[in-house]
Amino acid sequence: MEELMEMVATYMGSATKDEYEEIAKTIRHDLVFSEYGQEIENYIRYIPNTADICRTCGEGFPSQVYLVCTNTGELYDLDLFEKGANPDAGEYGYMSMSFGYDEVSQTSLHITKTPENKEGTVTVQRGRGIVSVQRMKSLFCDDCIREMLETVENQLVEEFVIFDAEGQKFYAVDDGSVQIGDYELQVEYDEGDYEIEVRYAK
Ligand SMILES: [Zn+2]
Repeated sequence: MEELMEMVATYMGSATKDEYEEIAKTIRHDLVFSEYGQEIENYIRYIPNTADICRTCGEGFPSQVYLVCTNTGELYDLDLFEKGANPDAGEYGYMSMSFGYDEVSQTSLHITKTPENKEGTVTVQRGRGIVSVQRMKSLFCDDCIREMLETVENQLVEEFVIFDAEGQKFYAVDDGSVQIGDYELQVEYDEGDYEIEVRYAK
């Protein structure tokens, strides 16, 4: 695979447009992000985008914070309260648990929300850590793909990104904290898995 990608990178530098299409076709079935290193722009340009609607574009998302699976386009809602609710006045929903799985990377998610305590936890159990650019091309627009790939570049977790739906910004799942809207996310690494603590911090 690595040899093939080197070959492709070399071709990309000198090929005509028709040749690019031929090369892209050959490798498209198993094009994997972590294999292509510095060539983000080439793959964005030469693999056709077939997404009718981009999952992370536009306005009017019902929640502020999501975890986005780059392989499936699934958006996992991390908000603890409905938009406009007033948690300080006791307006919160019920405790909830949900589960997610990405068969490409074999990563699974467990999301537990305890609105009463104004907190939630996401456990990210990682598998092969693979990102398929071909799949992304059928789920997101090229601008979002570029931003997502640049965000996860050189990060351990590439198959999920944290998404600020109002600010249209992406953040890597990496050690540290980030404030998005009314929520503070604290990411911790623990023996191969990641844990994201979500706290209401308005
Ligand atoms: Zn987009």
